[in-house]
Amino acid sequence: MCKDLSLGFEDETKIPIQGVIAVERERVYRLPRDFVAFQDALIMNRVGVFIDDRNFLDLVNDDGNIISGLVTAGTGEAEVKKTRKRVIRNTKDLAKEGAVYAGPRRFGWLGPDKKTGRRGNEKIDMSEWPYLVSLIKQAYANKGWRTMTSYMSLSPMKTVRGNDVWNDATIKFMVTSPAWWGGRILDGKIVTDKKGDPVIGDWEHATMERDGIGYETWLAIMERINSKRHSRGMAQDAPTREVMRTGKYVWSGFLRCGRINKIGHICYSKITATPSSGRNKKYGPAYLCRSPACKGVGRKLAAVELYLDSLVLAYLDKHFSDTEPSTVPWSSEKELENLREQLSSVEASISSGEIAWTDAHNVLTQLQSGIRKMEGERAAHLEAEAKRNLVRGWKRERWDMMDVSQKRAVIGQVISAVVVMPIPEGTSKKAPFNPDLLKIAWRKDEAA
Ligand SMILES: [Zn+2]
Repeated sequence: MCKDLSLGFEDETKIPIQGVIAVERERVYRLPRDFVAFQDALIMNRVGVFIDDRNFLDLVNDDGNIISGLVTAGTGEAEVKKTRKRVIRNTKDLAKEGAVYAGPRRFGWLGPDKKTGRRGNEKIDMSEWPYLVSLIKQAYANKGWRTMTSYMSLSPMKTVRGNDVWNDATIKFMVTSPAWWGGRILDGKIVTDKKGDPVIGDWEHATMERDGIGYETWLAIMERINSKRHSRGMAQDAPTREVMRTGKYVWSGFLRCGRINKIGHICYSKITATPSSGRNKKYGPAYLCRSPACKGVGRKLAAVELYLDSLVLAYLDKHFSDTEPSTVPWSSEKELENLREQLSSVEASISSGEIAWTDAHNVLTQLQSGIRKMEGERAAHLEAEAKRNLVRGWKRERWDMMDVSQKRAVIGQVISAVVVMPIPEGTSKKAPFNPDLLKIAWRKDEAA
């Protein structure tokens, strides 16, 4: 059976074989070594379907549960452990190649098609895809799982198993899976190449350009989920980074107060938005300086946003619409590579007994901390590049798809501050909004 399965057809009849359906899995394998042979065959087959009593089992991407089940089949613990290691290695090799995920169909992708040779989870399903993208954006915007679950249950979409009713776990799995941006997770870490960049798989996936979501979006979502988990005392299991601050107001913090304060200096405090309340109620929401040392400036929020948004959009159209998204390589790649090589040669010398561990201790810790520091710099560089790619190749439609935090990131790329000047003495309370009182500092040096 395993031979036929690996070949993809029955040897004698040439009838294609794409999987195995069994009444009981014990009829297929009983010992770990049978399992390994069977699993290898499924991997070779690339489609690798295994159905046990109507349950679809994902042997290729097994996280250890199926293997653990073998312990009860009367085999030694050691043999099971060995097998388990082997299974993980198989999965790893596939992931490192960026091979198409060979398990059950994922929501958002098409299943396999023999006629066209299409593999499962390779091509996007255009009817499901917009829903997946929307769920990811909702998660990024901090919507609750329950909201997203009822959004799907009310939609005409069914789960991959054909259910109309969705549950939180399914939604969570879809949103947190790195597959939607082309990545894979193994051992709680993103699969990366030698340089530390995520390996992007050879299946269709979301892009910032078309879908407005990408690796960065995923990192932000995972960060939020992990920080919640952490606060409940659970272990973290995915890469983390600084939480992206998402306020409600686009221009909060970019605006600075331009009034001369009580001690004779320009106040220059960061101005934040205030919803209409109390004695300001009749003016509506406003951006206000609240420094205690300052008499304050204030401006109506709607007028400020209308003016500054249109200014930024005009600037982006002019300077970024015919640029190309690109990533400037990090300049110290060689040095990092060097440190890594040194570390592995020191490690090799220790394990071969050339150097005593006690002698190498200082060198080792220095190399390790040097590598960590450079990896941090590298990550910061890539993040800055990703932010700059928010504006490169600019198209105006992008703005409307962005949430507050994305708009703020774009503004941060082109504007360093906007100073709000006080309204001159004697101006009528009814005077219209005067844009000349907003002094803008553009980031000219950072044009693409
Ligand atoms: Zn002020």
